[in-house]
Amino acid sequence: MSTPFLPYGRQSISEDDIAAVTAVLRSDFLTQGPEVERFETALREAGGAKHAIAYSHGTAALFGACWAAGVGPGDEIVTSAITFAASANCAAYLGALPVFADVRADTCGIDVASIERAITPRTKVLIPVDFTGQPADLAQVYALAKKHGLLVIEDAAHSLGATYQGESVGCGRYADMTMLSFHPVKHVTTGEGGAVLTNDDNLAQRLRLFRNHGIERDEARFVAQPNPGPWYHEMQELGHNFRLTDMQAALGRSQMGRLGLFVERRRAIAALYAELLLDLPRVRPLVQLPDRASSYHLYAVQIDLAAAGKGRAEVMQQLRQLGIGTQVHYIPVYRHPYHQRALAAAGKPHLPEQFPNAEAYYADALSLPMYPALTDDDVTRVVAALRQVVGVG
Ligand SMILES: *Cc1c(COP(=O)(O)O)cnc(C)c1O
Repeated sequence: MSTPFLPYGRQSISEDDIAAVTAVLRSDFLTQGPEVERFETALREAGGAKHAIAYSHGTAALFGACWAAGVGPGDEIVTSAITFAASANCAAYLGALPVFADVRADTCGIDVASIERAITPRTKVLIPVDFTGQPADLAQVYALAKKHGLLVIEDAAHSLGATYQGESVGCGRYADMTMLSFHPVKHVTTGEGGAVLTNDDNLAQRLRLFRNHGIERDEARFVAQPNPGPWYHEMQELGHNFRLTDMQAALGRSQMGRLGLFVERRRAIAALYAELLLDLPRVRPLVQLPDRASSYHLYAVQIDLAAAGKGRAEVMQQLRQLGIGTQVHYIPVYRHPYHQRALAAAGKPHLPEQFPNAEAYYADALSLPMYPALTDDDVTRVVAALRQVVGVG
């Protein structure tokens, strides 16, 4: 019997996906064209937002969202200590200082009281992260933001297909902009890619400018009036080339047709893990709150390493020998040397003792395999391997 290696995450590509991409290769458009518009329509409809603006990467989409929000030198943004570095870097690109809030001990989602303590007169934007696919405390974050006159950019890289208080992530009830990523481990992939959803016409317009060099092609918005001629366009802002290609968008649109199935399968895998892990008290899943439904980008657990009598590196290595891939999501972002330097230079060093929940989580967290193609037998195999490596106690 073969025992294939199970990574912590991976894409699911169908023959239809491949056909959709090859059809674009035979068409007139390779970069941003009609397929990008169709993909944007699918995203807008899935999220329930007025606008979707596709980007070349999720990170570029976050960068564009910060720019559209007017983030600049001297500003601060607040994001979660436990996230991918991109949630913070997007503001640093614009000369702003990313500062960090601690997380809740139960869900590892951003802690609202900790955000409130981090807000200063320089704060411009809050960037909550829907960690592992479970939406953050969005209503409370949004209320806090509006009390202080701030915009909310929801980092929903993990949570496409999730719901919060019965509404889709991306609908914009509690976010001014919602960012998505289409990296291969995410719910839907375009290889590399991202998007921003928003209901705000002005922000949507700025997001479109930023991804295409700051160039305006709509004569109604030209500074030069009347329109000098059919060749004419205006570079009104310093934007970038962050366009998604039509090949990528075709893949994304084809994948969006299976988003419901992907999320359903991820939830079934999570339910099976939760059930099987009841027998392994040394392995504790994150708490799932009743007013929101995760779309499970990750399946993160905390391991009682003291009871297991081994370090995390040893646990990871022994699981790997049994064909099980795991990863740690994430190193608290303020621990990275770049952010340490930036925070220290700004007179705001972040010390581990100021982030008790992030540190406690980081000490024993592990992400187990989670992707739609994982079978029930695979899940059983992962739990059996955990039983062997960390014991039952
Ligand atoms: C994946 C991810 C991003 C960035 O997305 P890319 O598409 O890889 O640039 C941002 N934030 C979080 C939390 C992510 O997991």
